[in-house]
Amino acid sequence: MFIMSEDSQRTQGRDAQSSNIMAGKAVAESVRTTLGPRGMDKMLVDSGGDVVITNDGATILNEMDIEHPAAQMIVEVSDTQEEEVGDGTTTAAVLAGNLLGEAEDLIEQDVHATTIVEGYHEAAEIALEAIDEQVNEADVDDEILRQVAESCMTGKGTGGLTAASLAETVVEAIRHVDTDEGVARDNVTVHTQIGASSNATELVPGIVVDEEPAHDGMPSAVEDASIAILDVELDVRTGDVDAEYAIDSIDQLNAAIDAEEGELEGYAEAVADSGADVVFTTEDVHDRVANALANEDVLVFEGLGDSDARQVASATGARRVGDLDDLEDEDLGSADRIRTENFGDDDLAFVEGGAAAETVTVFVRGGTEHVVDELERAIGDALDVVATALESGEVVPGAGATEIAIADKVREEAAGIEGRKQLAVTAFADAVDIVPRTLAANTGRDPIDALVDLRAAHDSEGRAGLITDGDEVTIDDPFEYGVVDPADVKREAVESATEAATMIARIDDVIAAE
Ligand code: ADP
Ligand code: MG
Repeated sequence: MFIMSEDSQRTQGRDAQSSNIMAGKAVAESVRTTLGPRGMDKMLVDSGGDVVITNDGATILNEMDIEHPAAQMIVEVSDTQEEEVGDGTTTAAVLAGNLLGEAEDLIEQDVHATTIVEGYHEAAEIALEAIDEQVNEADVDDEILRQVAESCMTGKGTGGLTAASLAETVVEAIRHVDTDEGVARDNVTVHTQIGASSNATELVPGIVVDEEPAHDGMPSAVEDASIAILDVELDVRTGDVDAEYAIDSIDQLNAAIDAEEGELEGYAEAVADSGADVVFTTEDVHDRVANALANEDVLVFEGLGDSDARQVASATGARRVGDLDDLEDEDLGSADRIRTENFGDDDLAFVEGGAAAETVTVFVRGGTEHVVDELERAIGDALDVVATALESGEVVPGAGATEIAIADKVREEAAGIEGRKQLAVTAFADAVDIVPRTLAANTGRDPIDALVDLRAAHDSEGRAGLITDGDEVTIDDPFEYGVVDPADVKREAVESATEAATMIARIDDVIAAE
């Protein structure tokens, strides 16, 4: 009896398991070489010829256009990691892949998938305890936050900038939006601008939008600005039945022109009377209206994108108005200063000191689009990790030290676990070793030797990572070198990698519709 369409494909048992595991492993393998400060970048070219150059795990996996369903689950691990904590995407994917690799060996030794799943879950619990034990005792101060940011950006393409100087800017930005209710991470934006050297990067106390004044005669800066945000077209109403004239005499033409003129003047007057000296509108502004407003020293920006309009509104407290007749005093927002500046082909508007929200923008300059894009990703990650570390107040040693500690604790506790599950718990510890092993391989070290040395140092000193410090690679306490990661980045990596690996390992029947 056939219950499925004849076209559907079905793979069962070991075949299904090994095909899924292989796909998952392959995905993880594809980002392995980018891990850590000496990780290499990837160049991804899409079918349209667009090029992305990046070191970021989540970006790589998303650009790769992966189709295999099990492989996609690894991509999801990395996406979840990015969403939840903003960093550790490569670590999470590599860990998930290695958990699958170890699971494959266990399946070959006839350990049942459900035993593996149980063992992995138990091991993940032990891993989380190990992470707790690695958490710093000292308070997370600005110095530690800068270290978190710098560790996150080391090895990324940061143009001519050092991770250290960027870290400074990142921490300053997060401090600006640190309130009693927590860190308002969303109030920090990154705005990139091509065309200058990257050391022109600065922190703007407000927001930056890609806008130029609607008219040359408008002021280029307004202090103590009153701001209106309109979703109104300040132009002659076209397509409106009332505005259509059948013209068959000069008088009628003049009357029509007068009517238009009157309409345009009405707009300019209504805006000027509202008391706003800066206007943002998402629609178009007629030249004559712009000219009239320029004469009144009103600064107008037209054709604003919706997200920019929202940003300006939330920074300045202005309420968006859809009809000029409704524009009232209380709809206006305010800001200390609005200024425009020209950068080569682009004009930007800086809205500084908005009354409604503490917003800051990391204004990043860089030579080319690729430099600027990768800088934006690196800074975005750094902002995320600094916010995460500040909120939880917990950091752990980086450079593989936390993973060495996890593997050590999991192995130790595995000894007390009965039956075949012990094999799975031990396999989990072996999988976690992938992080220090990969960090070693990416610095050109022999991974096995490095692992042996790290374990020995961990046993004698407690904290031991493989630290890249300039050209040197040393085994030492990462805290001493300022190589630190937020504890939540490690926790999330363990949890999401375990979840994906166990989910994939449990599947023994794949039914795919054609
Ligand atoms: P991910 O996408 O997982 O964040 P990264 O390429 O950013 O991958 O690498 C992160 C790893 O690099 C972390 O384990 C971190 O502790 C480590 N790391 C950061 N800076 C250093 C350093 N100076 N020396 C050694 N390891 C470092
Ligand atoms: Mg990272």
